[in-house]
Amino acid sequence: MPDLPQSGGCLCGGVRFELDTVPETASYCHCTRCQRRTGTAASVQTRVSADDLRVVAGEELVREWAPADGWAKCFCGRCGGALWSRDPETGALGVRLGAFDSDPGVRPSYRQYVAYAAAWEQIPDDGLPRFDERRPPG
Ligand SMILES: [Zn+2]
Ligand SMILES: [Zn+2]
Repeated sequence: MPDLPQSGGCLCGGVRFELDTVPETASYCHCTRCQRRTGTAASVQTRVSADDLRVVAGEELVREWAPADGWAKCFCGRCGGALWSRDPETGALGVRLGAFDSDPGVRPSYRQYVAYAAAWEQIPDDGLPRFDERRPPG
């Protein structure tokens, strides 16, 4: 288990955050939006409450792209490093696992939007449940 608070940040180090919890769930998203956003085949993130995450440096660098339908995508405006997504309704965050400084203590447990998965990279045969669209609630 990681020591708390956990820490993380963007590529250039301008944005730094701390997280007071060990998250419970993480997932891969294969949607087209995540492919465009990351330049890769999928994005992996963990769900946390906004109350548990503090930006401790570089808050002024955090930029957000907020689509009309869906979670806002937050990133560093200086280096472009992905940080988290934000649910406009609940404020919940999806912190990108690659933004953590060390092992965040959670493992991805499902894959969603696999109907849109990149043709050029096979989804690993890792036994995780797959959902064509968003994972159904519950
Ligand atoms: Zn940065
Ligand atoms: Zn996605």
